[in-house]
Amino acid sequence: MRHVRPRAHRFEHQVVIVGGGPAGMMLAAELKLANVDVVVLERRATQDLESPRSRGLHARTIEVLDQRGIADRFLGEGTPMQVQAFAGIPLDISDFPTRHNYGLALLQSRFERIMATWLAELGVHIARGREVTGVTSYPQQVEVTLTDDSSHRAEYLVGCDGSRSMVRKKAGIEFAGWDPSVCWITAEVEMREQPEFGMRGGGGIGPAEDGRVGVTLAEPNTDARFQEPTLEDLRTALTRVDGTDYGAHSPRYISRFTDMTRQAVTYRSGRVLIAGDAAHVHAPLGGQGLNLAVQDAVNLGWKLAQVVNGTSPDTLLDSYEAERHPVATGVMRNTMAQRGLSATDARTVALRDMVADLLTLDDARKRTAGMISGLDISYSADGDHHPVVGRRVPDHQVKTAHGSKRVYDHLHDAKGLLLDLEAPSGFDPSPWSERVKHIVGTSPDPWELPIVGTVEAPSALLVRPDGHVAWAGTGTYDGLEEALSTWFGAATPP
Ligand SMILES: Cc1cc2nc3c(=O)[nH]c(=O)nc-3n(C[C@H](O)[C@H](O)[C@H](O)COP(=O)(O)OP(=O)(O)OC[C@H]3O[C@@H](n4cnc5c(N)ncnc54)[C@H](O)[C@@H]3O)c2cc1C
Repeated sequence: MRHVRPRAHRFEHQVVIVGGGPAGMMLAAELKLANVDVVVLERRATQDLESPRSRGLHARTIEVLDQRGIADRFLGEGTPMQVQAFAGIPLDISDFPTRHNYGLALLQSRFERIMATWLAELGVHIARGREVTGVTSYPQQVEVTLTDDSSHRAEYLVGCDGSRSMVRKKAGIEFAGWDPSVCWITAEVEMREQPEFGMRGGGGIGPAEDGRVGVTLAEPNTDARFQEPTLEDLRTALTRVDGTDYGAHSPRYISRFTDMTRQAVTYRSGRVLIAGDAAHVHAPLGGQGLNLAVQDAVNLGWKLAQVVNGTSPDTLLDSYEAERHPVATGVMRNTMAQRGLSATDARTVALRDMVADLLTLDDARKRTAGMISGLDISYSADGDHHPVVGRRVPDHQVKTAHGSKRVYDHLHDAKGLLLDLEAPSGFDPSPWSERVKHIVGTSPDPWELPIVGTVEAPSALLVRPDGHVAWAGTGTYDGLEEALSTWFGAATPP
């Protein structure tokens, strides 16, 4: 009898996301908030990570989570602290004008679990144990095929599938940059003898969960990255640095990572987009990768939603690369600089000492910490407009006829926001009322912006769903109509 192969299932959605890590989950939530039919295809059968990876969140990421009303979930499980550092030189941001003038120590595994709970509440489907192997583009759709022979078609595909992104490769997007100059071995182990905790060996040794010890040490040979790391490799690294392996045993995990620094030359090829590590990788110095991934997703989500929902033209997606590519380029630059300063020869140590000295100067500290924390991000070149344009909106209390609320409270549903901070004028925003909420109220004046300093509060401002200011007026509504059309599509006829 001839064997008849069962017909493979084919599913249809508006958007398919490959990869359910930080970028994929955040993007799925953003799309779902805008009522987009989205599915996440994730290779891992469970939420377990091979290693803890990220150890925390920076201030801007906490703000972004606050904009969606979920920051408390993360703050409740992590430890707020001054985590910002440049080449190991601590940078205090407790004087920064934000409610979250700190970072949050929180393992990536916990971050992902909290996100997954939120996604389940929103009704996002994460299909686990699903590995995508093929991508085919059609004029109106894109199709992915999986190892189980099923396939999913969608209007758009977003590769959030990490640094080795299959989606990026299939889309033919070049990943340009630099090969590794160093390889680290990292592990959580039990030890028979107590080591001294602190920085050394190009990394450091410190406490981990449940009485274990966390070890991260540079290895002399970058080719080590091609081999599976073993306990013996870790013991060798410990002995090289401290003269003893402290009786290391029973590893919870051991892995390797490098300072490979690469960025996709474009974040889009037709109906395929990429975000997070799929779009950029760098050394984890300063702890910025997960933060970048989440913020890529928040920049892309509302734009993609407006395109698939038919309110904005597909060209709106060009602003995703225009805004996010330079941010990742800046992070690559700062991690390469940090890597340069982490060498242990006498000359580099002298250079690092001088940099540490310079970072005690207020302007230098603020500028560098603004970059690491993400609070310096501006999507608009300085120009003939209010300084808040392009930057994140400050989370001021806004008093209205109905009471008082924070600006970020108004952003929970990921809609745009027109804030009239003086008496309502003759401008009628109702043609955009489906996409933009109109709030009339008052807020304090002047405003303090991170890095920029004190500025006069605008009389009105248009805030995008990602919390960045698209337009600000000072006693005039000039340019508002154009900004509304650019970012939220054409006016809907009455
Ligand atoms: C040692 C180390 C320490 C780090 N420390 C920090 C830190 O302190 N702070 C920080 O911000 N960042 C840190 N990072 C970086 C951070 O871990 C990453 O930037 C972050 O995980 C990127 O998220 P992502 O969603 O883009 O990619 P990933 O987290 O890599 O997620 C990609 C997902 O796609 C899935 N996938 C891949 N291929 C397929 C496929 N073909 N089909 C289906 N699913 C697929 C994977 O299983 C994975 O779940 C660190 C990284 C390392 C290695």
